[in-house]
Amino acid sequence: MSTNKVCIVGAGLVGSMIASYLAQRGISSDIYEKRTDIRKDFLSGNRTIAMSISYRGVKGLNGIGLSDFVTDHTIPKHSRMVHCDNGKIISQKYGSKAEHTINTIDRKFLNQTLLNKAEQSGLVSSFFQHQCESLNPDSGEISFVDLTSLDTVTKKYNWIIGADGLFSQVRNLLEGHKILKTEYIDVHYGYRELLIPADHNNRYQLEGDFVHVWPRDKYIMVGLPSNNGKFTCNLFLPSDGELSLASIQTEEQVLELFNKKFPLLKPLMPTLTYDYFNNAASNINAIKCSNWNHKDKVLLIGDAAHAIVPYFAMGMNTCFEDCTIFDNLMDKYDNDLSKVFTVYGQYRKPDTDAISDLSYKNFSEISKSPDKNYHLKWKLDRTIWDMYPEKWMPCYPMVAFSDIPLSIAVTRTEAQNDILMQAIETGQFDQISNDESFKQIVHAYFDPILNTIEPIFA
Ligand SMILES: Cc1cc2nc3c(=O)[nH]c(=O)nc-3n(C[C@H](O)[C@H](O)[C@H](O)COP(=O)(O)OP(=O)(O)OC[C@H]3O[C@@H](n4cnc5c(N)ncnc54)[C@H](O)[C@@H]3O)c2cc1C
Repeated sequence: MSTNKVCIVGAGLVGSMIASYLAQRGISSDIYEKRTDIRKDFLSGNRTIAMSISYRGVKGLNGIGLSDFVTDHTIPKHSRMVHCDNGKIISQKYGSKAEHTINTIDRKFLNQTLLNKAEQSGLVSSFFQHQCESLNPDSGEISFVDLTSLDTVTKKYNWIIGADGLFSQVRNLLEGHKILKTEYIDVHYGYRELLIPADHNNRYQLEGDFVHVWPRDKYIMVGLPSNNGKFTCNLFLPSDGELSLASIQTEEQVLELFNKKFPLLKPLMPTLTYDYFNNAASNINAIKCSNWNHKDKVLLIGDAAHAIVPYFAMGMNTCFEDCTIFDNLMDKYDNDLSKVFTVYGQYRKPDTDAISDLSYKNFSEISKSPDKNYHLKWKLDRTIWDMYPEKWMPCYPMVAFSDIPLSIAVTRTEAQNDILMQAIETGQFDQISNDESFKQIVHAYFDPILNTIEPIFA
C-alpha cells in the first residue's frame, strides 16, 4: 500500500527545506538520509563550513518563517576586497542599497535549523542512516539500506522527491530506467578549505566587513568572515598538473604554493599545512540533466537536478529558489502535487541552466586581478545603473540581490556587456577623472541607447 506522504531522499539543505514548504500546505513527508543526524553528530563528509547566502536564498528561508534566522545568525558584507598579485588592494561594493549584502552562514547550523523547522511541523518524520538503493519509478516502491542493521527497508509512495545532492542515487536510478540523461561537467578544478584564525584579541586579522579574494590565475583564494573572528577560506586549484589538488602531497609542496602565490597570506594561517590536509577538500563537479521528473511520481530538486560550480556562490541560493518556485506552482495549480511534479522542470530548468553557464564563466572573472578595462567596465556599469535603475542592472546585483528569473538576468547581462564593450572601444570614457564630466559623457552616449531598452521590472 502506498501512503499519502511524500518521500524525500536526502536531509541536506534542500530536502529539509522542501519538507517545510510541503508541511505548510498540510502535506506530510518522510525524509531518508544516508548520514547520521547532523544535529547529533559532527558534520560527516567533506563539506564546506561557511557559505554565502544572498537574496534568493534568504527568500527561501523567509518563505518557511525563518527570516529571524538570517538577521540573527548571518554575517553581512557589502563589498569584496580584491588582493591583486601586484600588491594592490581594491574594494568593490556589491550593490547600491543597505540590503545589498552577501551574508555568511554556517552550513551545519543552517542544516540543523532547517531540519528542526521541518520536524516541528509535526508532519515530517526523518530516518537517518537510511541509504536509498533502488526504486521502481512507476509503482513508487523505494528501498533503503538501514546502515545500522544492514536490513533493507522497502516502502511505497505516491510521490518521491530526490534531494540527494550532486551524486544523487535517485537520479542514477532514473537514468538506469532511461528516464533521463545526465551531463557531467568536469571543470578539472578542486578546492581545499583553509582557515585564517582570529588574532589574540579574538578579532579578524583582515577587515571583517568584506569578502576577500586573492585572484592568481590558476589559483583563487576566497575568504569569508565567519564567527569568532575567523575567516573560512576556499582555495580553488587545478585538479591535476603541477601544484594541483592531486599532486600536492607534502607540507613542503603546500608551502611552495603559498610562497609562490600567496606569500602575504601565509603568516595569517598558522595551521595552514594541517588544515590543508585535514579540512574539506574535493574535486569540483557540476551536472545538468535532460529532465527532472518521471511522470507525476518522481522529481529531482536541488543539486540532484542541477549542481553548479561554486564560482558565483549561487548553488544553495539557486536550490532554495527551487523550493520557492515549487511552492508558487503549488499555489498556481491548487495544491495539485501530481501536476506540479509534471510541470516543475519546464518552469525551472531554463533558469538553472542559465546560472550554471554563468557560474562557469565567472571563473575567468574572479581569477584575474582587475586591469584598466575591468575598472572602466565596472565604473560604467554602475554609473548607468545609478542613472537608469529601472532599465539597467549590473550582473552581480541581478543575480544576488533580485529575483529576476535567472535566465532573463543572464540574457540581459549578455546584452548589457555587448553595449558596454562597444562603448569602451570608442575610447571616449578612458581618461575622465572627474565624476561629473564622466556622468555627462555617459548621458550623451547612453541616453539614445537606453531609450530603446525595455524596463527590467516591467
Ligand atoms: C566548495 C563549495 C562551496 C560552496 N559555496 C556555496 C556558497 O557559498 N553559496 C551557495 O549558495 N552555494 C554554495 N555551494 C553549493 C551548495 O553547497 C549546494 O548547492 C547545496 O549544498 C545543495 O544542497 P542539496 O540539499 O541539493 O544537496 P546536499 O547539500 O549535497 O544534500 C544532499 C543530501 O542527500 C544525502 N544523500 C545522498 N545520497 C543519498 C542516498 N543514496 N540516500 C539517502 N540520502 C542521500 C546526502 O548525505 C546529503 O545530506 C558550494 C559548493 C561547494 C562545492
